Amino acid sequence: MTKRIAYKTPQASFAARTQRQGACLVWAGAIRPNGYGVMWDGQQVVRVHRWAYEQANGPIPEGADIDHICGNRACAEASHLRVTSRKQNMENLTRPNRNSPTGVRGVHRNTSGGKPWRVRVKHNYREYNGGYYDTIAEAESAAIELRNKLFTHNDADRKAA
Ligand SMILES: [Zn+2]
Repeated sequence: MTKRIAYKTPQASFAARTQRQGACLVWAGAIRPNGYGVMWDGQQVVRVHRWAYEQANGPIPEGADIDHICGNRACAEASHLRVTSRKQNMENLTRPNRNSPTGVRGVHRNTSGGKPWRVRVKHNYREYNGGYYDTIAEAESAAIELRNKLFTHNDADRKAA
């Protein structure tokens, strides 16, 4: 069996393997193919976001799922996590179009592999590619920057907006 307790406490393990990325606290340890981070809590392997939620809020009600408000499954920022019923979460997962807007202007899910967030900004009937990002927060800042740049070009008043 491989040695898997490299830290004295799960709290130390968590602190050592999370990174602040924008508003997200991103797990830099093991990630399952489904996108969720996992860690050893001293007794068993747990999903990091559920563990982080419980650290901040106490036990998760039985049968409840924890949903990421930011859409980043590797994020363990407690304020980005909320309890949903399993049914609500299934509805979120089975939205008809996975490429649909994320709720953040100009930020889209990248489903073609690589980084999960893509920035596309429409301006004067043209679409501008703003690149690919690891976190929705980074993508959001890039979208705002690109939008400001494009709009400033034709309309100086927009700069302040
Ligand atoms: Zn987040």
